[in-house]
Amino acid sequence: MKFLLFLAIVLLLVWLWRSGRRETPSNDEENRPAPPTDPQEMVRCAHCGVHLPRSDAMVGRIGLYCSSEHRQLAEP
Ligand SMILES: [Zn+2]
Repeated sequence: MKFLLFLAIVLLLVWLWRSGRRETPSNDEENRPAPPTDPQEMVRCAHCGVHLPRSDAMVGRIGLYCSSEHRQLAEP
């Protein structure tokens, strides 16, 4: 009879552990989408006006451009 009580306690502990573990990742998933959706800084091409991420922009003397062609056209 003691064995059944012990088994019941073990099962209860396992159930509590599993339900507790399930809540923790779901909370992480709620927080995780925030960094990827964090908006990358968008800049506007000074020649054609297209918007592009700052990391893809070409830096000119008077502004940022979507390509080296537009930089040359705007800054001859
Ligand atoms: Zn452009």
